[in-house]
Amino acid sequence: MEAEKPYKNFIQKIIDEDNLSGKFNKNVHTRFPPEPNGYLHIGHAKSICLNFGLAHQYNGLCNLRFDDTNPIKEEDEYVKAIIEDVSWLGFDWGDRLFYASDYFDQMYEFAVFLIQSKKAYVCDLSADEVRATRGNLKEAGTDSPFRERTVDESLLLFTQMKNGDFEDGSRTLRAKIDMSHPNLNMRDPVMYRILKANHHRTGDKWCIYPMYDWAHGLEDSLEGITHSICTLEFEDHRLLYDWYLNQLDTYHPQQIEFARLNLNFTIMSKRWLKKLVDDGYVSGWDDPRMPTISGLRRRGYTPESIRNFAEKVGVAKRDNVVEMNLLEHSLREDLNKKANRVMGVIEPLKIVITNFPENEIDYLEAINNPEDESAGKRRIAFTKEIYIERSDFMEEPFRKYFRLAPGREVRLRYAFYITCVDVIKNSKGQIIELHCTYDPETRGGSSPDGRKVKGTIHWVSSTENIEAEVRLYDRLFLEPNPSKSDNINDTLNIDSLVLKKTCFIETEMKKASVGEFYQFERLGYFSLDNIDSSPEHFVFNRSVALRDSWKKIEKGFQTSKIGCG
Ligand code: ATP
Ligand code: MG
Repeated sequence: MEAEKPYKNFIQKIIDEDNLSGKFNKNVHTRFPPEPNGYLHIGHAKSICLNFGLAHQYNGLCNLRFDDTNPIKEEDEYVKAIIEDVSWLGFDWGDRLFYASDYFDQMYEFAVFLIQSKKAYVCDLSADEVRATRGNLKEAGTDSPFRERTVDESLLLFTQMKNGDFEDGSRTLRAKIDMSHPNLNMRDPVMYRILKANHHRTGDKWCIYPMYDWAHGLEDSLEGITHSICTLEFEDHRLLYDWYLNQLDTYHPQQIEFARLNLNFTIMSKRWLKKLVDDGYVSGWDDPRMPTISGLRRRGYTPESIRNFAEKVGVAKRDNVVEMNLLEHSLREDLNKKANRVMGVIEPLKIVITNFPENEIDYLEAINNPEDESAGKRRIAFTKEIYIERSDFMEEPFRKYFRLAPGREVRLRYAFYITCVDVIKNSKGQIIELHCTYDPETRGGSSPDGRKVKGTIHWVSSTENIEAEVRLYDRLFLEPNPSKSDNINDTLNIDSLVLKKTCFIETEMKKASVGEFYQFERLGYFSLDNIDSSPEHFVFNRSVALRDSWKKIEKGFQTSKIGCG
C-alpha cells in the first residue's frame, strides 16, 4: 500500500484537529460512495485513493457503498465493474460493502419522523411547478400551497405514495425549511419522488425513491462515517446535509469537500463516457482509450501507477486541470522498474545478412532489465534473415539520421555491426528488403578494433519469433478541454487507435501472459490485451511510448518516429 504521506493536505489537518479535540473519539471512518450508473474513471480513482488512503493512514476503516437511489440509470453490470475496479486498485473494504438501498426502510421511517415533527410535507406540485416557485439567487421562492397541510394528511398521502396509489411525478415529499433561504438548496428541497421503476436490488418493492441530499447523510450516519469526503459541487449542499441530520438528532458525520480531478485531453462525465460507448465511438467502457479504470487496466496501467498519480496530484480546495502527461509519467516511472525488456518490430523490413551461414542460429545474450539485475538475462536467436523497423532505414538519410542507410554501418542491439550493401525494390520502386553484411568480430555489440557506430537499432529474427498484432493508442480527443466544445464528437481523434496487424517479437514472448508488462525496446510499454489476445493470436496493447529512453543506451542516437509515438 501507499507510503505514508510526507506532508499534510488540508483534510489530514482537519482529521488531526478532530483527533486532538476528540470529536470522533479519534476514529477515522471514510467511505467511497459510487452511484452504479457507469464505470469508474480516473477521477473516481483519486477519490478512492483519498478515502481508502486516509483510513489506512489513520488506522481507520473505509466502506465501499453503492449510492443506488436512482433505479432508472443503475445496473448490476456497473456494480460488478466497480467492485472489480476498486479491488484491482488495491483497496480492501473488508466486510463493509453496503448499498444505500439496504437503508430504504430506515430512510422511510426517518421521513415519517420528519413529517411528524412538522419538518416535512407532501406537496402536490409537479416537478416543473416546484422549479418555477423556487425563486433564484436574487428572488425568494414562494411557498407551496400544500406547505401547511396537516401532519395527518401528509402522513396518509406519504403512505399512499409509498403504496403506489399515485402517478409518477404527481407528488413529492418536501422538507419544510425556508422558501426565502439565500441557499437555494434549503428552499423546501424534495426528499422523495414517485418513480414506479424496477430497482436492481429491491425490485418492485419501492415506488418512491429518496433524493441524493436526503439519502446521503443518512447513509453516512447509519454507517458511522466520521469524515464524509466529497467533491466541491457539494459545498452548497453541506448546509442541507447538516440540517437533515440535526432535525433527526442522530449521529452526525462531517462533510468535507475537495476539488475533483480534471485531466486534459479527456472527459470525466459519466454521461459523456456512456455516450461514447452507446454511439460506438469506442469498443466499450473498457476501451483502452477510455479514462475509465477498466480502460486504463486494459491499456496496461498498473494499480501502483494510478495510486502514485493520485498521490502526486494531491488534494486541493480549488479546481484545476491536470496534464495527461503526469498520468503517463507515473506509468513510465513504475514500469521502468518492473517491465522486462524485449525486442519487437512493428513495421517490419526484411534484412538478409549475406555473409551469415544459411540455417544457422547464433544465440546471443540480452539483459532483461537494466534497472533490476535480479531479472537476469535471456537468449535471443540471430539468423540469416531478420526484421528491422522500416523507419530505421533511409535510402537518402537526412543530416542527423544515424540509423541504417546505404553503405552505412550500425549496431544491431545485443548482436553485431551490420553494413547495408544493397537495397532491393519491387517493380513499383518500393523497398522490399535490404542486403547487409555483418562483422562476426563485433558479436555482442562492440568492435575489438574500437570502431564506433552512431546508430543502434532493434531487430527480430525472421524465423525465430512470434507473430503478433499490436495496437497503438493516442489521446481520444484533439482538444485539451473536449467538454468545452459544442459538439464533443468533433474533437475526437480519429487516429487514436492504430493497428499493426503483422508484427514480430522475440520468441521469449511465447510465455507472455495477461497482467504482465514488457518494454519493447525503443517502442514503449506493452501488455497482452485481456479480451482479444489468445495463444493462437497474440494482441499487444501499447500503454505508453518511451521518452528519451534510448539516449541512455547511446548518445547521439535519434529516437525513432514510431518510438516517440
Ligand atoms: P454522477 O453523480 O453525475 O453520476 P459522479 O462522477 O459524481 O457522477 P459518483 O458515482 O457519484 O459519480 O461518484 C462517486 C464519488 O467519486 C463521489 O464521492 C464523487 O465526489 C467522487 N468523484 C467523482 N468524480 C470525481 C473526480 N473527477 N475527481 C474526484 N472525485 C470524483
Ligand atoms: Mg455524484
